[in-house]
This record gives sequence, structure tokens and C-alpha cells, in this order.
Amino acid sequence: MKINGINASDGIAIGKVYKLETVSFVIPSHPLTNKEDELLVLERALKKAEQELKIIKEKTRISIDQEHADIFDAHIQIVNDPEILSQVTSLMVNENQNVTFAYNNVCDTFAQIFESMDNEYMKERAADVKDIKKRVLFHLLGIEMNDPSLIDEEVIIVASDLTPSDTAQLNKNFVLGFATNIGGKTSHSAIMARTLEIPAVVGTQNIMSIVNNDDEVIINGALGYVIISPTKEEVDSHRTMQEEFVNQKKIWKKYSKKSTKTKDLHHVELAANIGSPEDIESVLKTGAEGIGLYRTEFLYMNNDNLPTEEEQFIAYKIVLEKMQNKKVVIRTLDIGGDKQLDYLPLDHELNPFLGQRALRLCLENIDLFKTQLRALVRASKYGDLHIMFPMVATINELRQAKAVLEESKQELINEGKEVGTYKVGIMVEIPSVAILADQFAKEVDFFSIGTNDLIQYSFAADRMNQKVSYLYQPLNPSLLRLIKMVIDASHKEGIWTGMCGEMAGDQLAAPILLGLGLDEFSMSASSVLQTRYSFDHLNKKDMEVLSSKALQCATSEEVEELVKNSIL
Ligand code: PEP
Ligand code: MG
Repeated sequence: MKINGINASDGIAIGKVYKLETVSFVIPSHPLTNKEDELLVLERALKKAEQELKIIKEKTRISIDQEHADIFDAHIQIVNDPEILSQVTSLMVNENQNVTFAYNNVCDTFAQIFESMDNEYMKERAADVKDIKKRVLFHLLGIEMNDPSLIDEEVIIVASDLTPSDTAQLNKNFVLGFATNIGGKTSHSAIMARTLEIPAVVGTQNIMSIVNNDDEVIINGALGYVIISPTKEEVDSHRTMQEEFVNQKKIWKKYSKKSTKTKDLHHVELAANIGSPEDIESVLKTGAEGIGLYRTEFLYMNNDNLPTEEEQFIAYKIVLEKMQNKKVVIRTLDIGGDKQLDYLPLDHELNPFLGQRALRLCLENIDLFKTQLRALVRASKYGDLHIMFPMVATINELRQAKAVLEESKQELINEGKEVGTYKVGIMVEIPSVAILADQFAKEVDFFSIGTNDLIQYSFAADRMNQKVSYLYQPLNPSLLRLIKMVIDASHKEGIWTGMCGEMAGDQLAAPILLGLGLDEFSMSASSVLQTRYSFDHLNKKDMEVLSSKALQCATSEEVEELVKNSIL
């Protein structure tokens, strides 16, 4: 049986299904019924949690090392903590609370105490308590726990949705691919899949209700389909496709040491998008000429608390140093939309992508914003830093953000801290900015077009909603005209325009962008070599002619036809 979805990340995966169910539960608040019985249930739940943690510890010792395994000793200690147990008993006896309710309350109190401490080590203990609380509550309520980080055999994950932080936790050694019910080509789980080079199909609508655990499936991430219980012929033909893909990659790999230029020797800057300092290794393998987008929100999402100035400074410094003076564009926090932080609950919004996202949130939370800006300014000494603000809609927002940046820099100077130099730019992802690009260009050092959002806002089509995914139209002439306005406005003011949305790595769009004069293309590291290979086969002059024709088309299908006829 074949199910169609959206092609989110190239490659073929063949393997067994692991269904990742999101389990929600309610803590019962009824009064205590029988103290002895409930304490016995707690004792069993704690025992089970301890046994599981010992297994995880042993697995970690084998797959990583003893030092990492020892971390679980602290977790086991929390499970057996006599103080927690005594407080739970006291709430049961004195306040008539049932055991689950009492255990939840006591753990929350402990976590709050740890969180309020000044000491980083103790703050981290709060996260441990929350982790243990969840594990024990699952056992108290008799619910099976589902933990993607514990997968230790080769599987294909099937889920209703994967949050960006779920995706970040997936172990690439075991997760061969994934398929989800919801999501679009530019949802952040799809972007992460490309970064991790895991084949993925999203937006299948119903795969979760069709497959069972251990079913064999094939994922074709390039064409966007999943085959459930394939025949032997289907498996064989997909194994052949897998080999072809590997061979294709070998051809692209030959371009890793070459500079990016077209057939008529026009140089283009090819950069990579990253989500964390660990992604740099694969970027360096491609010989990318810089980082065009570092999505810093993953630093916030892979944490249990807001990352401190020092933690951020270290992450930014590592990236700048590893890139050895090549350009690094670091984007300030872009949380909201499909990216949430468990420890910083945002108000419920009817349209989160149109709500208090990214820069809007930072300008309302100046302390949080300043912590990041101070870390960035301090790190600027270590490389060619470009600070970029996301989701700017008006000149006033830009001016406010620049003022907070300047204030942060002055603070550091007054404190006697060393600061370096940096450039300041904005993402162009809201049509109001593209239309007013000539004015914005006077106040920034560069533009980077974020097409994932620019398309969603221009076509009024939620990037997470597969029902309107047909409106993700990077080749639509209306979008191409907007992009041309931005590039032309920047060149008039002598500044450069890059693109860090997924469109930059789209093999049909890149020739047109080249013709429109885009200066920098930034994409998932997995697309860099393929793009360098294709630029090597294109003439810039021909692409200029192609792009002027594209601007005169009426539909994206016409543009697609035009490109295919010119380059294939
Ligand atoms: C974009 O909108 O194109 C972009 C690069 O930002 P993000 O995908 O993180 O919203
Ligand atoms: Mg964006």
C-alpha cells in the first residue's frame, strides 16, 4: 500500500516502524482512598523507574562512555530520595491527597527550589527532578512511556507530528527515516531532517492510523511517498534507488574542495544553515563558504532553562572559531510559531505564526534579548560575525532592536569586557519589508530572504498545514518579483542580499535566483554540493535572460516549464 505525502528530506529508507505516540495524561485530584495501598503503588512505581534507569545507564555506558552513564546515578538518587518520600507521605496523611497528586506536588516544589538557586549545577537538578517526576507519574498511572532518545535499534519513526526538539533528539545511527501525519516542506521538523540527512516524508495525513509497530515500510523522501508492507520487487527496486542516490552523492562530493562559480566564471557565495555547533562538522565537509543562518533557538530548545549568557557565548564562539573567519550569520531568537519552549510557556494564540514570534517576543522581553545580544557581542571577537534579526515588520522594530544591541554593547564596554566588530542585518520574511526594502537597505548591512515565511505570509498559507501546501510556490512570479525588489534595493545601497529559506537550495529555483543577482545562497549542508555542481553547469548570462522571462509569467507552472526547458 502506498501513501503520498510531502517530500521533506531526500533519500530512501527501508525498515521497521516505531510508532511514536504522544501520550497526555491528567493527574487525578480525588482525595486519598487507602494510604497503605497507594503507598504500595508508589513503591512499585519507584522500583520500576529505578530498574529502567539502571538499564539506560548500562546502555549509555556501552554506547557512549562511563562518564555519561554516571549521570544516571543522580537520577536514581532522586527516585530514592527519602525527603521526597517523606513529604509525599505527609501530604497524603495531613492533606488527604491521593498519591499521584501528592507526588506531583512534591516534585514541583523541589524543582522550583532548585530552579530559584543561583548555582548552575543546582539549576540543572530541577530538570532531573522533572524528568523523574514524569517517569514515576507514568508508572503510577499505568501508562506506557515513549522516549525517542531511548531507541537503540534501526527503525523508521512514524508520528502524528514531530516537534523540532523531538527531531533534535533522534539518534541518527538508529533512526533510518521518518514519516508524519502533519507538517509541510518548511516545517522545522522537515528542515531538521535535511540537516541530519534523514529521509523524511511529512504531511501524509493518516499514516499514524494505518501502520502498526514493526510493519516494514519504505520511505522515499525525494518523491514524498511511503510504501507499507512492500513486495520483494518494491524492496529490490528501492534498494537500487538507494545505491543510485549514494553514487550521485559521490559525484557531488568531488565539488567539496572547489569554489562556487558558474560556467562563465561568476562567483556565488554558497553558505550553510545550522541549528547547533555540532552541525559544523558536516558543513566543513561541503566546503561551504560560510554560515548563512545559525538558528539559535535550538540552543534554547535543547535546554531545560533559558541558556545563560556564558552558555550562549561559548556556543557562538565555537561556531565562529570553527568557521575560521568565514562569514557567520547568527540569527537572534526566533521562538513561537511551531517552535516552543517547555520552560517558557507562551500565551495561547489563535494564529501563532502571526502572533508574538521572534523579534516581537524579544522586544517585549528585553532581559532575555539582552542576554543573547551580550553573548553575541562578546563572541564577535572570534570571527566574522553577522547579527541578524528575524521577523522584522517595520523600520521602528528594526531601530528598537538596533538600540538594544547598542545598549548591550555599551554595557559590556562599561564593564571593561572586550568586544569585537560585527555587521547587522535583517531577515526579509514579511512582505511589508520586501516592499519597503529601499528604506530598510539604508539602515542595515545586509538582507537575508527567509522564503519559508515570506511564502507563507505572501500566499496566506500556514507552512504547517498540508491542506494548503499547494500554495508553497517558490516559483510563483509574484514571489519572484518581491525577491527582485529586495535584491535591486540592496544593490542600490551597496549591500548584499542572501537567502536562507529552503528555496535557496531548491534546484529549480536556484538558476532563477542566480539570474536575479542573489549574492548568497544558504541551505541545509546536505544541499550545498549538489548546488555547487549545478552552478558549475550554468551560465549566469543565460540565467539573467531566464529570470526576466520568469518575471513575465503568470503561474508557477509556467516558470517551472521555462526552467526545465532551459537547464535540463
Ligand atoms: C525562513 O522563514 O525562511 C527562515 C529561514 O526562517 P525559519 O524557517 O527558521 O522560520
Ligand atoms: Mg522564518
